[in-house]
Amino acid sequence: MKNLKSQFLLFLTIISSSFFSAQLPTNGLDVKHYAFNIALNDSTNVIKGKAIITTAFTENENNIVFDFVNKNADGKGMTVFSVTKNNENLKFSKDAQHLIINDKGILGQENTYTINYEGIPADGLIIGNTKNGDRSFFADNWPNRAHNWITCNDHLSDKATSEFLVTAPDHYQVVSNGREIEETNLSENLKLTHWKSEVELSTKIMAIGVTKFAVNNLGNVEGIPVSEWVFPEDRDNGFKSYNYSKEILKYFVKNIGAFPFEKLANVQSKTIFGGLENAGCIFYSENSINSKGVESLMAHETAHQWFGDNVTEKDWPHLWLSEGFATYMTNLYLEYKYGKDSLNNLMKQQRIQVISFSKKVKKPVVDSSEADNLMNLLNANSYQKGGWVLHILRRKIGDDLFWKSVRTYYETYKGKNATTEDFEKVVEEVSHQDLKTFFKQWLFTSGQPLLKIDWKYDQLTKKVGINIEQKQIDFFEFPLSIAFKNGTEMVLKTFNIKNKLSKEDFSVSFEPKEIMIDPNVDLLFEMDVIN
Ligand SMILES: [Zn+2]
Repeated sequence: MKNLKSQFLLFLTIISSSFFSAQLPTNGLDVKHYAFNIALNDSTNVIKGKAIITTAFTENENNIVFDFVNKNADGKGMTVFSVTKNNENLKFSKDAQHLIINDKGILGQENTYTINYEGIPADGLIIGNTKNGDRSFFADNWPNRAHNWITCNDHLSDKATSEFLVTAPDHYQVVSNGREIEETNLSENLKLTHWKSEVELSTKIMAIGVTKFAVNNLGNVEGIPVSEWVFPEDRDNGFKSYNYSKEILKYFVKNIGAFPFEKLANVQSKTIFGGLENAGCIFYSENSINSKGVESLMAHETAHQWFGDNVTEKDWPHLWLSEGFATYMTNLYLEYKYGKDSLNNLMKQQRIQVISFSKKVKKPVVDSSEADNLMNLLNANSYQKGGWVLHILRRKIGDDLFWKSVRTYYETYKGKNATTEDFEKVVEEVSHQDLKTFFKQWLFTSGQPLLKIDWKYDQLTKKVGINIEQKQIDFFEFPLSIAFKNGTEMVLKTFNIKNKLSKEDFSVSFEPKEIMIDPNVDLLFEMDVIN
């Protein structure tokens, strides 16, 4: 759930758009492991870092280029003091967004670089106060803001194992991805906390959270330790609010597969988003506690642990594989818990959001036009329409094949990256259906069917005549259900729509007085309303 606060949107418009620019990396790096030593303090916002990075190469390189934000005119950004390999100093240079190391990368070899740096993060690590006035440090890397504070290959297609060794004043606790390895009190009231992820992660979901916490260990679910980390002032309400975690986790483990990470910590944080799905260490906004939507927010971020975190879209145009999946998986969890009507109501609400967005932005779900402003992809196409596409797919192939497709897709791509085409191929294999038209019209075409429907009943022939017209430019293929009613009498007919105009006459044993279009909420469409 990465709903931006409006304040941040304003902020976005005044900073350089190249800041969020991202394409598939061309630096030839394939990072294997990151170890970040980060020192934090209470007197300044300067962080001291030592990054130890082991990388392989996808081709021979004459320079080694990492993403790393240089110190800017405002004094924010990172200054690099030294770069070494095998204890030998290497020459390096910097541009605004990169560290360029004077060394060769050879295909088939791995190099380990140690980079010493310090600075005030311009973004990516949010240093400030919690709503209760306590000092806090929260990583907020999504989508490619990690390189503001850690040297890295800041693209979601390059996954690596990682560890954070955080030295901070000893009144703080530190939470991060993976498993806690060490917690040691040092001199001068400092403490070292060491977390390590054995599972390979994209930089977008690596995180540390450092502040005063109240921590509640909820025990194991399916062998996974689940915990709640909230601000001490919010202890009672926080522990209660995040208690949905166990039930949500059980549902997704049962339906998708084993939880991918070492543990699941649910963390109250300073993320700029409603929630951020950091791997095994979900950050929720500081106001999430007691909020009405906390259960669906938690279901959304938990679903991301499988979709987005462990199976990751290969590049940003395929973001719906992350957000559309998390949106629909949440709907499915809520259907399981609260029943079919709750799903139908959600689908109706989300259909309105999709239609409203399509009036303003005429783009398909798989959208390559936003490489320079990834935040623009946090929209109703990636979330609600992506979710709707999965709903229509489920109705098309049936519940059993739908879940089998979801599980097979996860099993095939877990730990890796996938594209929309990869998902399509899995569903085609599982369902034995040709889904080219389905994927093309719903994901690579903008908008949705705009329908005009006329019908009348002929008393003499006892037949209904119906005309169904697609008013939009690109015609869709889909089944359309219509209920014909008169009091308690009802007949449900399904029409297979393909062309601009579909006409049909059929007998009905009673005279229908009204019709209900799509009574079971199966289709994403809008009606052409004539005033
Ligand atoms: Zn999300």
